[in-house]
Amino acid sequence: MSVDVEDYYQVSAFAKSVATNEWEQHESRVVANTHRLLELFSKKNIKATFFVLGWVAEREPQLVKEIHSQGHEVASHGFSHQLIYNQTQEVFRNETIKSKSLLEDLIGEEVLGYRAASYSITKRNLWALDILQEAGFTYDSSIFPIRHDRYGIADAKTTPHELTTPNGGKLIEFPLTTRRLGKFNIPVAGGGYFRLYPYFLTRHFLKSVNKKQDEQFVFYLHPWEVDPQQPRIEASWFSKFRHYNNLEKCESRLSQLMDDFKFSTMKSVLTDMNLIK
Ligand SMILES: [Zn+2]
Repeated sequence: MSVDVEDYYQVSAFAKSVATNEWEQHESRVVANTHRLLELFSKKNIKATFFVLGWVAEREPQLVKEIHSQGHEVASHGFSHQLIYNQTQEVFRNETIKSKSLLEDLIGEEVLGYRAASYSITKRNLWALDILQEAGFTYDSSIFPIRHDRYGIADAKTTPHELTTPNGGKLIEFPLTTRRLGKFNIPVAGGGYFRLYPYFLTRHFLKSVNKKQDEQFVFYLHPWEVDPQQPRIEASWFSKFRHYNNLEKCESRLSQLMDDFKFSTMKSVLTDMNLIK
């Protein structure tokens, strides 16, 4: 179970409507929404991995400490939520190191995992994997083995594995879960797809990943996805659809999902698979 801790105005779908330097002007709802998820996880007795955006961690240090003190895994969602392939290697390196040490100072423990903003590690910026490995990350969970307008490596390996970065370093990759249908990988890992598909379909796909493909799956969600009352942002029809579709159904579906499957942190699943020693 994983959560990408960011606020509703920071998502890539709204990047054209809300500039980074306007983030401060929006009502912050990330703490309340993360608390909602923490309560739900506690009720269901589930531990999760929280990939926290550095920008949020800097402003809400207490939230990071709370996540950690409740026994969840704290991991990194980068610092600025810019798409990595739009950044220079130098900017990416600096903010990656900065966000990792920011989290580590808050929790007093090593941060092992990383997830890129909008899964923005694609074939054109595999150098990001070198930088993650050099920065000391143990695992990455940013590669989506699908075709999509913003992200994805359609022919990437779909199961957790150790990969060799372009510079020859070793990094564990936990790709976002897909279900093979004919020639295509169907995204079934959470977020917008979880809100789009009827719940029985998500359950069917995830059960079949568990059973037929004999695999663990990764599920992801954002705190703003359990907040149907969030302030509305003006954007293109498609961006609004992606962001607002079925928000009001998300929390009850999530509750159902947690009854239907067993969940744990990314670190503990990868340890069970002997990928992390
Ligand atoms: Zn994100």
